[in-house]
Amino acid sequence: MKCGIVGLPNVGKSTLFNAITRAGIAAENYPFCTIEPNVGIVEVPDPRLKPLIDIVNPQKVQPAIVEFVDIAGLVAGASKGEGLGNKFLANIRETDAIAHVVRCFDDGNVVHVAGKVDPLSDIEVINTELALADMETVEKTLHREGKKAKSGDKEAIALCNVLEKVQKHLDTGAQVRTLGLDVDQLAIIKPLCLITVKPVMYLANVNDDGFSDNALLDKVVALGKQEHAPVVAICAKIEAEISDLEEEDKALFLDEMGLDEPGLDRVIRAAYSLLGLETYFTAGVKEVRAWTVKKGSTAPQAAGVIHTDFERGFIRAEVIAYDEYVKHKGEQGAKEAGKMRLEGKDYIVQDGDVMHFRFNV
Ligand code: GDP
Repeated sequence: MKCGIVGLPNVGKSTLFNAITRAGIAAENYPFCTIEPNVGIVEVPDPRLKPLIDIVNPQKVQPAIVEFVDIAGLVAGASKGEGLGNKFLANIRETDAIAHVVRCFDDGNVVHVAGKVDPLSDIEVINTELALADMETVEKTLHREGKKAKSGDKEAIALCNVLEKVQKHLDTGAQVRTLGLDVDQLAIIKPLCLITVKPVMYLANVNDDGFSDNALLDKVVALGKQEHAPVVAICAKIEAEISDLEEEDKALFLDEMGLDEPGLDRVIRAAYSLLGLETYFTAGVKEVRAWTVKKGSTAPQAAGVIHTDFERGFIRAEVIAYDEYVKHKGEQGAKEAGKMRLEGKDYIVQDGDVMHFRFNV
C-alpha cells in the first residue's frame, strides 16, 4: 500500500520527501521490498508499542511500515503529456492514496509557478489535470467496451453503466471519489486505476510560524472539511532539518520547539489511516510486532499477513483487546481476568488487538 506525494512545483514536495527518506528505514532491513529512489519507507510511529515492550521485554521490535512515493512532474497540461506528464500519470495510478502538498507559505525567495501563492487555485490546477486524465481513460474504455456491450456482453454492459455515471460526474469538474459509488461499482471500475477515485489528504506546507493565524492554511482547512479530506499542516523545511539530526539532538530540538514529536509523525499516521489500514499486534519474547491489515479484515486474513499457511490452515485466534492486555500486564494476566477471547474465522479484527493464531499446517 503506497501513498503518492503530488503537488505543483516549488511547494516543498522534495523537501518533505527528503525528510521522509532520511527518517526512513534502510533498504537492507527490508530485503523483500525493492526501494526505488522515489520511494520512502517509514515506520509508523505508534505510542501503543512502548507499553507492550515494557510488559514483554522482547528481543526485537518491529513497527508497522508505510510507503511514500514521490511523484514529481505534475504541471498544468500534464494530462496532455506536457512536462513529465505520462510518466507522472503512470506512477500515480499505481498508488493507493494521494498526499497533495499545498504551498501555504509566503517567501519572496521561492518562486511560485503561477506567480502568486493561492492554495485553492493550486489545488484546482492539480485536480483538473487528474480529472482530465481520468476522463481520457473513461472515454477510451467506453469506446472499447461500448461495442462489446452492444453485442450483449454482460460484463461490458455493467462496466459501461458505471462509466457513464462516472463520465457525467467528471464532466462537472468533480473528482470520482465524491460520486458515492458503492462497493460493487467500485469493484467494477477498479481495473481502470482511475486517479481521482483514490482517497486524498492535503499536506499544507507552512512556515515555522505559520501554524496559526495563517489565512492560506485556513482556506485549505475549509476545503478539506467540505471534501471530507484530512488536512495536515506541516513545515517541510523544519522536518528536513529535524531528520538530519542525530537522535539525541533531535529530542533537544523538539523540546526547544515545544513539540512532542516531529510533524512527520502526523503525516505518516494520517497516510496510514488514509490508506484504510489498521494494526494488530503479536507480542512474544522473541518479537513484539505491529502487523498491518486493511480495516475490516477477518481473523484469517490477518493471519495471512504473517504467512499464507496461517490463513489456509486457520483454526482460531486468541484475541486480547489492547487496553485489556496493558491493563492486566500481559497475556497471563488478561487470561486470568477472563479477557482472552477465542475467535473464529468470521471475527473482524479490531485496531490494536493483540493476537495469537492457531492453525493446521
Ligand atoms: P518541490 O518542487 O515541490 O519539490 O519543492 P521543493 O521541496 O524543492 O521546495 C522549493 C523551495 O521551497 C526550496 O527552496 C525549499 O527550500 C523551499 N521550501 C520548502 N518548504 C518550505 C517552507 O516550509 N518554508 C519556506 N520558506 N520555504 C520552503
